[in-house]
Parts: sequence; C-alpha cells; structure tokens
Amino acid sequence: MELFDTRVAVFGAPGRYIQGRGAIHLVGDCAATIGARAVLVVDAQIRHLVAGLIGESCKLASVEITVLPFEGELTRQTGADLRRLLTADPTLVIAAGGGRAIDAGKALASLSDCGLITVPTVASNDAPTSKNFVLYDERHRLVEVGHLLRNPDFVVVDTELLISAPKNLFRAGLGDALAKKFEADACMARGGTTLFMARPTRLAQAIASHCYDTLISAAPGAWRSLDAKTVTEDFDAAVEAMILMAGLGFESGGLSLPHAMTRGIPVLPGADVVAHGLQVAWALMVHFEVLGVEPPSELVELYRLTGLPLSLADLGLSEQTDEALAELAEATVGARHVHNLPFSLQPSALTAAIRRVEERETNRRKSA
Ligand SMILES: [Zn+2]
Repeated sequence: MELFDTRVAVFGAPGRYIQGRGAIHLVGDCAATIGARAVLVVDAQIRHLVAGLIGESCKLASVEITVLPFEGELTRQTGADLRRLLTADPTLVIAAGGGRAIDAGKALASLSDCGLITVPTVASNDAPTSKNFVLYDERHRLVEVGHLLRNPDFVVVDTELLISAPKNLFRAGLGDALAKKFEADACMARGGTTLFMARPTRLAQAIASHCYDTLISAAPGAWRSLDAKTVTEDFDAAVEAMILMAGLGFESGGLSLPHAMTRGIPVLPGADVVAHGLQVAWALMVHFEVLGVEPPSELVELYRLTGLPLSLADLGLSEQTDEALAELAEATVGARHVHNLPFSLQPSALTAAIRRVEERETNRRKSA
C-alpha cells in the first residue's frame, strides 16, 4: 500500500542507524525498546556467527528470542512460510544476514505488522535501511517489490563482522551504491517518483551524491583493508556510504535505468547467478551511454581496481543474441524506474546502447 503521490516529497529513514565495532552487542537493548519477544530470522549460512551473539544480548536485555534460520529463494510465499513456524505473531523481527535473510525478515515483519531490527552481516546491498524488499521467482527473476509501512526501527551494523565478509559481496554492494547518485540525479531532473511514489527530496539527492564522493575517496582503502581484515577509517566510511547513504539516497531520491535493468538482465542466459549489485554496476555504464555522457574517469578507475563489470563480458555474459538483448530491453522498459529518465526509452535504443558499451570496452581492451 502506498500512502503518497507526486503532490508531495517524502523522506523516509530508519528510526536509528547504529554502526561500529561490536555494535551487534546493542541489538538486545534496541529490541527491548520495542517488545519482550523477538523472532530472529537469520541466514542459515552465518547462523553460527551471529545467532549466539544476538541471543546473548537479548538475554541480557530480558528479550525472549525464537530463531528461524532462512535459506533458499525469497518468494511471495516466504513471509507466510516463516509465519507458519511460529505459534503467534511476533512483536518484533530481528533480520540478520545478507540481502535475502534481511528481506525474508522484512516479509515476515510486513505480514505481522510488527517492529523490525535489521542486522546486515555483509555490505552487499542497501536493503537494511529501507522499507522495501524484493521477491523472486524460482528462476531468480525479480517479480515483485514489497513495501513495509515503515522503515526498520533500528539498523545495527557491526563493522567487525562486515570486515570478515567475502570480498565479492563487498564488490557487489559497492556497485549497487555507486549508481545511486546518477539515479537520484536522473529522477530529480525528470521530476520522477521515488520508492514512496512521491517526489524526490533534495536531501536524498545530496545524500546519494555524498555517497558517491565518499566511495570514490574511501573505497580503494576499504578494498585493501578487506585483505588485512582490519577495520580502518576508510572501511568505516565505505560501509556507511554503502548501507546508510545508499539506502536513504535511493529510497527518497529515486532510482532510474540501472535498477530498471535489474528487471531485464535476469532474462539473459546465465544471468540468474549474477549478484544484484554487479547487475546494477554494469547497467550504470549503459545508463551513461543512453544519456550520451562519458562515465567519470574516477569511477572507471574504481571499477578496474575492484573488479566491477564494465561490460557483459566482465559479467561472464558475453556473446548475447539480438533476441536475448531484445527480451532484456522489453522487460526493462516495463519497469517503473525507467520513467525516471529525461526521455522515453525505446527498447531498440537500449539494445543499441548495450552494443556500443560492449564494443567500446572490447576495443579498449584490445588497445590496452
Ligand atoms: Zn539496488
């Protein structure tokens, strides 16, 4: 349900955002401000890393906790499936893990209309701060975006946990976050609509822009700190940009072609395994091409340093047929964020832009 329309500009945010080393120990105190009985939806893969810590902190705060490990695909059924495992509606959901477990927790919280604390354990996306959650079909095609009535009550980001997360997940989060400035700019220029179905706010656009600037300066250092597994100032700054700034920036600033393309890219053979953030990163290159502007050189440099995809070949999806690209383009122009462009985009213009990006990158490689 959406409350707003384009007569108003809306800024949404979580109740509290908490980031730092050892922040996970604060989850119990945060939970206690909402209710005495919590359900922890946790990514089954990292349950051993966080369930004990969260359980301990809840115990100290006199909050009872039920643990629901989550794995597999996130579908329209996920919320109801999780709800069936409980004897009563929870007063509070704590969602811990990467994008899917967080969104699974949101789906449950949405169904139960209860409090929500998100505890991202990787910086792979900006789901933790937002009210949105994405649902897929069995072929990992994005089929629906769900909306909570409110943003999470608390977002607890423990940088000590995140520094140990796999580098490829950090790369994906970086790709997702870097696009936000250009999407918010496009949405504002068009007078488009945000995730609140409202006008974008200037503040969110400024946040998306600061997200980009922060990552351009801090991401190289953060990338190196992942090897040393040491939380540095750069890492702390990059995490804040990738989770907090990117989240606020897109939700109240608006999205554009890169995220519209995440509706189309999964139709390509082999694309179902490509992380959301990597899809967005490549789609940003197509976004520049569609707008007829060069990607900023500092951005391309950061892509090269961190292995973000500049081409379909980088995504492992080279040599696509015209039919496959046409299908991608059709699905993309049917996505709502595509309207946040300065002109109406024809599928043929999108496929032509994709071909030009591919050709340019292939030529650049040959001459390198
Ligand atoms: Zn995204």
